[in-house]
Order: sequence, then C-alpha cells, then structure tokens
Amino acid sequence: MLIYLGDLAYFHSWDNIQPIPLNVGYIAAYLKKTLPDVEIEIFKEPKKLMDRISERSPDILGLSHYEWNSNLNLAILRHTKQKDSNVITVMGGPSFQPYDNAWIKEFFHKRSNLDAYVTNEGEWSFTKLVELLMENEMRLTNIPLDNLPASIHFQNSETKNVVNNPKNVVKRLDLKDHPSPYLTGILDDFLKDPHLAPVMETNRGCPYDCTFCNWGNATKSTINQFSIDTIKNEMEYIASNTRNTKGFFYVGDANFGILKRDEEIANVINSCSKKFDFPKHIYIYFAKNANETIVNIAATLRSVTMMNLSRQTMNKDVLDFIKRDNISTEMFDDLQQKCYEKGIETFCELIYALPGETYESFIQGVIETCRTGVDIALFPHTMLLGAEASTQIYRNKYGLKSAFRVIPRYINDDDELPVLEYEEVVIETDCFTRDDFWDVRVFYFIFTILRSEIFIELAHSLSRNGSNHADFANRIVEDKENWSPKVKKLFEDFRQSAKDEFIQESEKKLEFTLEDIKKARIKSKALNPLYSSRIASDTKLISELKEYFLGGISRFYSNDKKVNMSELELSVNFGFDKLVNYENIDSGKNISYNYDITSWLDNPEKLSIEKFSINEPKKYIFKLDDDILKDLKRLETYNNDLSDRIYRLRANEMGPTGDRIFCYKRIELSKDMSETENISKREAIRHHVEIAARKT
Ligand code: SF4
Repeated sequence: MLIYLGDLAYFHSWDNIQPIPLNVGYIAAYLKKTLPDVEIEIFKEPKKLMDRISERSPDILGLSHYEWNSNLNLAILRHTKQKDSNVITVMGGPSFQPYDNAWIKEFFHKRSNLDAYVTNEGEWSFTKLVELLMENEMRLTNIPLDNLPASIHFQNSETKNVVNNPKNVVKRLDLKDHPSPYLTGILDDFLKDPHLAPVMETNRGCPYDCTFCNWGNATKSTINQFSIDTIKNEMEYIASNTRNTKGFFYVGDANFGILKRDEEIANVINSCSKKFDFPKHIYIYFAKNANETIVNIAATLRSVTMMNLSRQTMNKDVLDFIKRDNISTEMFDDLQQKCYEKGIETFCELIYALPGETYESFIQGVIETCRTGVDIALFPHTMLLGAEASTQIYRNKYGLKSAFRVIPRYINDDDELPVLEYEEVVIETDCFTRDDFWDVRVFYFIFTILRSEIFIELAHSLSRNGSNHADFANRIVEDKENWSPKVKKLFEDFRQSAKDEFIQESEKKLEFTLEDIKKARIKSKALNPLYSSRIASDTKLISELKEYFLGGISRFYSNDKKVNMSELELSVNFGFDKLVNYENIDSGKNISYNYDITSWLDNPEKLSIEKFSINEPKKYIFKLDDDILKDLKRLETYNNDLSDRIYRLRANEMGPTGDRIFCYKRIELSKDMSETENISKREAIRHHVEIAARKT
C-alpha cells in the first residue's frame, strides 16, 4: 500500500515562512505506528507531487484542505485521476461545512475527482479509512455503513450520492502518547529545506467559539495536551536540525499561554534560541484573554517575538454577536503598560465589517486601540468554511453580503499548473455599507503608511501630543476638500481599485487557463504595496504629499495650544527624508540633524524633541539594503514602468519584510565617521510587526 500525503502551498522566490507540513506529518506518524507496512511519502510542493504521481501513482492520495490551497488541490486531483483513475483521493481539514448536507452535496458535485473527505482530527479518521479500504477491496462503496465513522464523507461514484454515518461519533485523540513526526524522522527532509519554517503544536483545541473562526471545527472545545517530554525533545530536535535561513518558527497552538506549563515551554524555546540561534522570529497566537502569565511568557520570548493582545473589535455589541469577550480596557491598558516596561512589543488585530459594527465605531475602535501604543493590523471579515459566520442562518441574521477576490500571493502561473485561490470577504452588513467598506480600505492604506518605519517619528510625536497616527489617518480621510490634485488622485484611484478587485460568486472558477492567470496577475494586486510603490516612484506626488501632511498638521492641530507644532512639523520632515524616491534614487545620502532622534524615540517619559537638541549636529547616512537596488535593476528586463517594478520587487521578491524597500535605514555616523548600530528600539522591531501582519 502506497500513500501520498500533501500539505500543498503556493511558493515564491522569497519564501522562507511556509510551514513544514506538520499536519500531514502527524497523520503519517500515526498511520505508520498503526499500520507499519504502509509506505508513505509526504509533499509540500505541488509540482514535486505532480511529477511523483506521473512517475508512480499511489493507492491513496490525501491532501490537507484550507482556503489557501483549495483550487490547488483540485488541480492535483485532476492530474491524479487523469494518470490513474483507480487512485482513491481524499481531502481533509477545517474548510468544510460538516452539518450542512446541501452544501456537502454541492461540494462533492463540483469536485468530481474527489472521493472522500475527512473532518475532525485527521490521524485516527484517515487511518481508519485506510483500514476500511484494505478490508473492503479498496472500494469505498464496499464499506459497510455501520463501520463508517461520522468524520468520513464519501461520494458514491455511480449514484453521486454522498455517504456518511453521523451516528458513529468519533472521540478526541489522546495526545499524550501521540508519535512525534519530528522525532520519528518523518519530517527530516522538510527540516533540511531552507524555505520551510518549522511549526510545533503543544496542545490542540480552543475553548472559545468566535463566529468568524473555524479553529474549533476539527477539535471542538477541550484542550488536549501533547506530552511535555515530547515537546522538549521536539524543540531541541527542530532547533538543531532546521536549515531555515531566517530562523522562522511557528507555535501552532490556538492560545499559547492558556496553560500554566506554557511558561516552561517558553523557557525551552528561549534556551534553544540561545544555544542554537534558532528560532530567531516566532509567530505565536497568544491566548485570547491575556493575563500576567502571558506577559511573563512574552517577556521570556521578547527577543524573538511580539505579543498579540487580541481585540478584533472594541464594540461591546459586536463582541456579543461574534461570541467573544475581551478583557476590560483598563486591564488591556495595564497589560500594555507592563509589556512596555518589560520591553515587549505588542500587536493587536482588528476586523472590519463584523456584524453590528458601523464605520464610525470601527474607526473609533482603531483610534482608541492606537492610543495605548500597541501596533495594529486591520483585517476584513473573511468567510471561512466551517465557521459559524459563513452559515446561511448567520448571514441572514446580520445581513452579511460578501464578494470574492483573488489572493495575490496565491496565484501560480506555471504552464503545467495554472491555478489561483479566492477569498470571500464581507463587504456589507446591516450596519455597514459598501461605501463604508471602501472608506475603511482608504483609511487603512493611509494608516499603513503612517504606522510604517518611515513615519515612526511622526507617530511618536502625534501620540506625545494627544493624538495618534490612526486619528491623523482618519482626519485625512475626512479632509477630502483639501486633498491636492495628486493626493486626491492617489486616494481616489486606491478606492476604485479596492472596488474593482471583487467579483461575484458566479464569476468564480475552479479550473483555470494560462490566460485566466495572466489576467488575474494584472488585475489582482496587493493594494497597499501597489499604491505605496506609486508614491515611491513619483517625485511630484511625494512633494505634494509632504505639503499636504504639513498643511494637515496645521489645520488639524494648531488650534490646540498644548500641541507642539514645530515638533510635529519636524517629524513630518524626518519621515519624508526616509521615504525612498526611486525616481531620484540616492544609494546613500547624508543628512545632519540638531537632535538625537534615537534617544528621543526611546525615551520612556516621552519628552519633547527640544529636550534632545544637541549643539553639534548629528550626521546620519540614509541607506538602502544592498540587495534592493540590485534586484530592482534585474527587474528592468521585465518591465519599463518604474512603479510596476517597485511593486513587483515588494510583492513578488521581498516577502513579509518587504516594506523596507520604501524606507531608508537611517544610520548614525560617529565622530570617527564610522557607522554605528545605534537605531531606535522601535525601528529594530519592525521585522516582527511585518511578520505578524503577513496576511495583509
Ligand atoms: S479566534 Fe482564536 S480564540 Fe476565537 S475560536 Fe478562533 S482560535 Fe479560538
């Protein structure tokens, strides 16, 4: 018996954050322990799997199924059945509506090359499916219904009916003795791949049931734990064997820090980081309702991660509708302050177009959250299969209307595998119009620029002066009558592009030609980097934007006598000195300032800039990383349009830390004219922020 398991992904040249296929690794380890004679091969790259299937087809193909690889899987299933129609094709994962029979029928109907689907934890159910097939001449239809677990659905290839037995409810797995895919060596080849980032699961399950999330779908509520010894051994094994070039690592728990023992695990991770120089950057979902234990854990890991103080919304009614409860604002402020004191960077996600949220309440929530000093990323309310929000009842209850868009990172233009993925986004609710949606998009674009490294000084100064960068972004959105011509065009074009990216469900495809992919590449772009590229390639626009910012500062704040206007103006100038203008590129310009900017930014008392004025001007050089100009030059062969080239570099070549192409590194020159590493703490943590916000 030969089984191929795949956790397929779209790869890019910059990729080094794709997770190792731990999910199918767990299935392989469990399967191997239960049925030692079965031969198993694991795949992450679609092309490698296709080639292997062409060479030797398996008896069973099992693929993990998520929003980000759904159509990719279909393309592989098509290829598989064309090569050998006898292969039994199985998918599994949380992106499935297990209680909606009409939906399931339609799902299988559209996927004629799919034989079976496994829900809940895959290890036991997939292994059971293999056993049942072995006992029944490898024919799904021969399996007696009484023996079929509720977690397996299959399509009768003749009648096209979907077969399932909901009575045979499947128990949760006991994880204490679960075989480790790392320690059994099953994932060794993937650890050696420099493009893949190790991921570790220490427990499974989430006790919450947020309506927009499908996490609990596979594991229900209780938290089951892997053995602490296994976790410790896995961490050492991973740290000493991974070849990930940037030291990226994921903790795959839904709520790290929810268990007391997570402090011990954090210590293990921290000592590995010191001993093996891995991990260098960790992405962790900290427990939803933060407390002091979690702050202690974040402090242990502060050199390699930042702390996610979850919010999603600041509106109490919305929290009820999405079945969440946040910690109080006082507690949030208190924890944020503790994090600040311990040198932990904090990060918070907010979602727009949730049920009950209005434009005003959402923007006020962003401004309020920003006031605490936490970094923020905004996400649209996306519909995940298996989440309560995507059921028809829920959609009707809150008037949710959605549309689809291509995810620019998930487009593959390989001749043999033209394929892409869509996401479903809520663009209207009973309380939130489509116009509100496009306005939030423009707000977020401006906010993204203001929260970037370019405008760190401005954000600092705004916050010192009783405002913040979210407030400034909102005032800009509301200041339409004062937008100068080029600024107006920039924001209006952005808004139009945000509208144009959506299509209706009827326009979605499951199968693609190269022509479809070409069109999608032209039309579907990540708008924040696209329009940032437009700014960075247009001298006149940069100059108008600077004038507009200075005018805005004056219009919005000069009536308030407490505001230090000269500091705000200086901060705007500091930002525009750092903004890269590719039309007039400087590979290393020098500027002197009469202020010690680094000390001003890092000063915990947040004193005015005048307190940091210095007699002898400080010299700074403004540099781009060496690889940027080289890569941009290389792209000249693809395209003559400067803005397109910059976008291509940002979106297709740089990966999650790509915003550095818009911002000069400002490096101090010491008296002997040598460069010093004296950069502000805030500048230093930007890579964590960008990784945390990698979905945008
Ligand atoms: S959003 Fe987080 S806390 Fe809420 S159900 Fe999902 S995993 Fe659990």
